[in-house]
Amino acid sequence: MSGPDENEPIDPTDALALRAELLAWYDHHRRDLPWRHTQDPYAIWVSEIMLQQTQVATVIDYWTRWLERFPTVEALAAAPLDDALEQWAGLGYYRRARMLHAGAQHVVEALGGEVPTTAAGLKALPGVGPYTAGAIASIAFGEAAPIVDGNVERILSRLFGVEGDPKARANQKTFWAMAAQLVCPTRPGDLNQAMMELGATVCTPKNVACLLCPVRHRCVAFAQGRVDELPGKVQRAAAKTDRVVSAIIWAPDADGHPHLLTVRRPDTGLLAGLLECPTVEQLPSGAAPRHALLELIASLVDAPLGLSSPDALALCGEVVHKFTHLHRTFVVYEGRLPAPAPVTDPRAAWTRADALADAAFSTAARKVYRLGEAQPPEDEASGG
Ligand code: SF4
Repeated sequence: MSGPDENEPIDPTDALALRAELLAWYDHHRRDLPWRHTQDPYAIWVSEIMLQQTQVATVIDYWTRWLERFPTVEALAAAPLDDALEQWAGLGYYRRARMLHAGAQHVVEALGGEVPTTAAGLKALPGVGPYTAGAIASIAFGEAAPIVDGNVERILSRLFGVEGDPKARANQKTFWAMAAQLVCPTRPGDLNQAMMELGATVCTPKNVACLLCPVRHRCVAFAQGRVDELPGKVQRAAAKTDRVVSAIIWAPDADGHPHLLTVRRPDTGLLAGLLECPTVEQLPSGAAPRHALLELIASLVDAPLGLSSPDALALCGEVVHKFTHLHRTFVVYEGRLPAPAPVTDPRAAWTRADALADAAFSTAARKVYRLGEAQPPEDEASGG
């Protein structure tokens, strides 16, 4: 790696030239994205949270609908968490929605509705780390705050030939020092977005478009023919695997509309607060899956007539969902009740089949209940 010292790893003259080249390129090649038409820090905050782990093309629709539903930080803070989770459904990584909701409440209750104007202040909000704080501060408030994310790591490691795991502590220190040197005092938001844009459209993880790159002439990886080797591999712990059992339980109401038995997950941990079908995550040793599910259902609803025998649950199939650190196999059973039995657990509810799409299910839970849709119960009301 080149560079005179660890606080200024880029030669200062090179840093100035690189900054100018990136800004000139951004001025001509920036995509027209809806959040680039606003200076509203709340709207930019929402976009930055959604863009973590989600593609721009997907975020555009979600961001637009979110701002229609919760146009201000006050509107989000006043809404029930469920509404926020429903609006987030399908984007995955639901912790982001919970943190955004908690952050909005903090801004309204503790900060008089004013979003903090500096990266240091923004970092105190739930779910806002150094990257997001820098992005919001630079774009919405013009603070010369650096940002480092996967895009920036990739560009900098290729440009300057930074070897090894990009997440390693020493490399992170180098990237943040480089980003701080590059961030433009007069156009910090544009410089940061130029880096994000270059990483998203040109200096991509695969199929790198070096011939379209405005800084190719100073790129170590390009000059050495090592673009595919940099950045180095991230050392990750192997994902765990497990198997759980779930039950899709349908019951028609008095008008014949099918309802699905749903359970809200605990308020902390994996998929906190989201809906799912009754699921046993840890089978007691030696327990049969159907027995364990019947026991769980009996703890959720009163007198589940029609589900008294394990045979009442038919095996539907299996579905796998990959969380970041966990590959989970759901073994799915299906059963019917003659009517929605009264719920006895506050986390349980009956959800009408035609309202499932709008309910706050996780992506994993949707995969589960859709397994049973091959044989949907007849909606007696719609049949006349
Ligand atoms: Fe990335 Fe290629 Fe540009 Fe280097 S030349 S910064 S590898 S796009």
